Order: sequence, then C-alpha cells, then structure tokens
Amino acid sequence: MIVLALTALTVPASDAEARHTGNVRTQVIDMVVIHSTGGPTCDAGTGKPIWVGAGTLEENMRKIEADPKLGIHYMIDRDGTLRASVPEDEVANHVFHYSGRSIGIELINDGDGHDPFPEAQLASLVKLLRDIKQRRGIARDGIKRHSDLDHALLSCDRTQRRKVDPGAAFPYESILDRVFQP
Ligand SMILES: [Zn+2]
Repeated sequence: MIVLALTALTVPASDAEARHTGNVRTQVIDMVVIHSTGGPTCDAGTGKPIWVGAGTLEENMRKIEADPKLGIHYMIDRDGTLRASVPEDEVANHVFHYSGRSIGIELINDGDGHDPFPEAQLASLVKLLRDIKQRRGIARDGIKRHSDLDHALLSCDRTQRRKVDPGAAFPYESILDRVFQP
C-alpha cells in the first residue's frame, strides 16, 4: 500500500495528462486506421529483425502512453474490452503521413496472419467503427489497415515490410460489410 502510494505521488499530474493528449486537429477526419499491437521490428541489441508479439492491453497502453512520439485513440482487447486514450479531436501519431486526418485503433493481436481475432474483439471493433462512421461520416474506403498506408521497408532488413498489421488473419472485407450494412 505504501509503495503504491509513493509511486503514485512521484508521477507529476502534468505528465500523467500529457500522455493522453495530442496536437489539435487542423485537418478533417476522413479516415480510420486499424492496427495490431504485434509486428516486425529491428532488435535494438542485435540489429536483426524480430517479431514482437501482441502483448497485453495494459502493457501496450502503458508503453504507448509513455512514449512522447506515439499515440492511439482506441485499443481493443481480445475479449472486446475497449479503452480510449487520446481524444478523437486531437492528433495521435499512429501512422506516417496520415495521422492528421485519421483515428487510430489498435487490436491486441500478433499481427502475423496466424493469431486469430476472436469474435468478441471483432464485434467491439464493428460497434466502434459504426459509431465513428455515423458521427464523422467516414466512407467505406476511408477505413484502412496500417499495411495499406505504409509500404516502407525495415531499416535492418530491406527485404521485409516495416508495417504489415493487422495482417492476413484480420477479416477486413467482412468487417467493412458489417460496418456498412444497412
Ligand atoms: Zn500499425
């Protein structure tokens, strides 16, 4: 109890708030970008490509909110639990070149094309996308996968794409059908 209380006291309120805020929007939101938390990266120690697994919702939320350069609007766990981070009206840096006009959603998944997306997680995503679409007037082709927008290669392996999320196991067309069905 004491340890927890002391730890809480050492985090200044301003820092705690800063992690949930982004820049004010100057562009209209016409896009939603879907991510998975797992994916390829270059290992800082070996300089070799590695695959980072999905991780937990808590781990990912902590990591992203502690990074001053990164941000996300929503994160959805495998069981459908939805967490909000940066408010939609502020820019979260989740995709190169398109963050200013988009809302970012992270799904807890390995992003390797094998790890299945449970129906509870997909149902929660569909509900959120329908809500955003209705409030923001997003078109069907405005819902993108991160891999649709970033075709750059890994700096440590020029034969591999940097961003392949959410991966081939994500039922993209079926999700779009569910969101846009009358
Ligand atoms: Zn991504």
